Amino acid sequence: MKRTAPETHDCDCVVIGAGVVGLACAAQLARAGREVLVLEKNNMIGSETSSRNSEVIHAGIYYPPQSLKAQTCISGRRLLIQYVKERHIDFHLCGKLIVATNDDEVITLEKLHTNARDSGVSNLEWIDQSQLSTVEPALSATAALLSPGTGIVDSHHFMTSLHGDLEDQGGMIAFGTSVDSGTVENDKIVLFTDTAKLKCETVVNAAGLYAPALAGTIEGVNVRSLPRQHLAKGSYFTSSERSPFRRLIYPAPADGGLGVHVTLDLAGRMRFGPDVEWLEEDNPSAADYRVEHGRADRFYHAIRKYWPGLPDGALAPDYAGIRPKLSPKGAPAADFQIQDEREHGVPGLINLFGIESPGLTASLALAEIVLDRTQNNPRSFDLVGGGA
Ligand SMILES: Cc1cc2nc3c(=O)[nH]c(=O)nc-3n(C[C@H](O)[C@H](O)[C@H](O)COP(=O)(O)OP(=O)(O)OC[C@H]3O[C@@H](n4cnc5c(N)ncnc54)[C@H](O)[C@@H]3O)c2cc1C
Repeated sequence: MKRTAPETHDCDCVVIGAGVVGLACAAQLARAGREVLVLEKNNMIGSETSSRNSEVIHAGIYYPPQSLKAQTCISGRRLLIQYVKERHIDFHLCGKLIVATNDDEVITLEKLHTNARDSGVSNLEWIDQSQLSTVEPALSATAALLSPGTGIVDSHHFMTSLHGDLEDQGGMIAFGTSVDSGTVENDKIVLFTDTAKLKCETVVNAAGLYAPALAGTIEGVNVRSLPRQHLAKGSYFTSSERSPFRRLIYPAPADGGLGVHVTLDLAGRMRFGPDVEWLEEDNPSAADYRVEHGRADRFYHAIRKYWPGLPDGALAPDYAGIRPKLSPKGAPAADFQIQDEREHGVPGLINLFGIESPGLTASLALAEIVLDRTQNNPRSFDLVGGGA
């Protein structure tokens, strides 16, 4: 059968991906007066990593000072809280305790404390064992660091609101539209979907797990600039038990993740996880999001180190998310990458790579950087007062 030639459209600005980062970028660009079209392969917003996370508003404790993760987490947190307050989106700054259950972990927490201070997060408090018995009596720990500025947010409502902002500024999302490849013609980036050819001034590649592979299909991109991506699955378990905790409870961080923690949703229900399972296959299309029942033993073991009262049979498999990591198992965590022409050689193309946690918290700050990059204006951060 003869294939019809794809329809050609001229576009100002295309954002690939309607996850929280793509939506934040699209709304920001539209507010700045750009005509924005978002292309999303699925049929709704936030249907991949953005709906498979802990919904935690992070304070910026864990990341190397001055890294993009630290800077965008701290400034993104401030922007996020301001945004959700203005829009009456549910959030709760319930605080979090990072607990040490032995002397080695106390040393880990001391290093975290220093790291946080060096990043500008100056409001962490030490809680000793005797204080812990009144602060969170169900906990068994030697000491803990309290982060009063950590909280939780209704991430779906946040994304819906960003979608509304985009539409209010005349932008739109084309759902069920997958970008297959691209090239450069007469200084324009040309994107190909199965039905259309789009000639764009600006393209923001916010395709999450697919971003590096997608960038590699755009002719003209220097393939040596593309990072190797590794996938690390994080599974969650849930429980119908009433939560004995008022705050989020995190263990000392473990390799590749923050350790199996107890988070609460806005209805007060407990969620446990995510753990870290490095996947052998680095193609996200092949990823299996099912949570294996068999992982529960490891969860009981990890959680009972700090909550010995977790009853037998309390855990049920919930959902899983997949982290797009730019460093392999065992290597120090890599930073977020935002690449523009200077890195990959294609004018008008901005790639976002490795946007794992704290990408939800950082999304509005990432969007500001992306807008600045489209205006050839590299951003410098004001961290004063950040991370509270
Ligand atoms: C287990 C886990 C827990 C986390 N917990 C937290 C947390 O508590 N707090 C926090 O701040 N962050 C957290 N994060 C990080 C946060 O969830 C992510 O950083 C964020 O959701 C990434 O958003 P995104 O828009 O970049 O990607 P995504 O949400 O994956 O969106 C990318 C979109 O691009 C679309 N797409 C892909 N390819 C194409 C294509 N070719 N054409 C068209 N569309 C395409 C996809 O369908 C998808 O909708 C967590 C992450 C994980 C995995």
